[in-house]
Amino acid sequence: MPSPAGELTFAAPRRAKPPRHLADLSPAQRREAVADLGERPFRADQLSTHYFSHLEDDPQQMTDLPQTTRDLLAASLLPTLLTPVRHLETDKGTTRKTVWRLFDGATVESVLMRYPSRVTICVSSQAGCGMNCPFCATGQAGLTRNMSAGEIVDQVVVGARWLRRGEVAGGPGRVSNVVFMGMGEPLANYPAVLAAVRRLTDPAPEGLGLSQRNVTVSTVGLVPAMDRLTGEGLSVTLAVSLHAPDDELRDTLVPVNTRWKVAEVLDAARRYFEKTGRRVSIEYALIRDVNDHAWRADLLGTELNRRGRGWVHVNPIPLNPTPGSQWTASEPGVERRFVQRLRAHGIPTTVRDTRGREIDGACGQLATSSP
Ligand code: SAH
Repeated sequence: MPSPAGELTFAAPRRAKPPRHLADLSPAQRREAVADLGERPFRADQLSTHYFSHLEDDPQQMTDLPQTTRDLLAASLLPTLLTPVRHLETDKGTTRKTVWRLFDGATVESVLMRYPSRVTICVSSQAGCGMNCPFCATGQAGLTRNMSAGEIVDQVVVGARWLRRGEVAGGPGRVSNVVFMGMGEPLANYPAVLAAVRRLTDPAPEGLGLSQRNVTVSTVGLVPAMDRLTGEGLSVTLAVSLHAPDDELRDTLVPVNTRWKVAEVLDAARRYFEKTGRRVSIEYALIRDVNDHAWRADLLGTELNRRGRGWVHVNPIPLNPTPGSQWTASEPGVERRFVQRLRAHGIPTTVRDTRGREIDGACGQLATSSP
């Protein structure tokens, strides 16, 4: 029956949800979902083993499941969430950026970085981003939508599959680290990000079995969500994108600072350390003549030390160029001085290696346009 005229016209535009996936669900919810389909609950555990332990993507290989069960469960719990649109590689194939299309045509990016002793995957948590930081390419197009836990997790699972199958330069390998530093503000998509963290760190076969310490959640400083994270009892690494130690400048670089000020953000970061014992990372993109002054290094050192010792380290990142921005990275000498000043305050400081600049895969450069 046709809907009455007007109903559609006046309905608020609503986005369809990504299809439900095993990785959206806790182990108990998976068993329930399988039971709802009329199957025995232990089938959920078999399915989890295929997905998280075997990294299997072909249901026909799941031969411990009877054919009809296999088809039914694969169709309702293992839908395809991510379709690779493009790979861009650099560093002899050890850095690989992938552009993914989601079920509704939105696109996101993830970056796999292989180092001698670890493999890090940088994942997106939102299509676009609503935080509007003027130096970040992702921020310029605004927020398209939140990603589901399954969409977040699958970026890692697919990467892990490539590694296991030897499809990444350097031979077969494993993912060791995940950083929520791709597109989006993870703490603005809290429930899905938290669920994704659990899936990534729950022991196999219920999850991927990564160490919580090797998962980093990066935030612009959404204080209530930082406190909520503090209460979760996880030992993931928290990174805070500070970029300025003073409100006057930070209000312009990280617009959400007008809501939660530097002092509130640093206090929340300190509370995270106190509860978890995990040293917090402060990210600081060094922008030439904007935030790279010696006095700002001193002020940052003072503000951090005011809250205690040994609870924090600073990661300066030379600004990566983004289209249309007049800003550029600090001069090497200025960067060195900034680092030295922080160290003189006793703050452990390491300049972040920025991989993938040549493929627009470095921090702040992920900007695939989404519909
Ligand atoms: N929204 C979260 C997650 C993104 S992480 C956050 O802001 O923390 C990406 C990191 O790269 C953040 O620290 C971000 O501030 C930084 N970044 C953004 N644009 C950059 C650029 N052009 N050069 C270097 N770092 C940049």
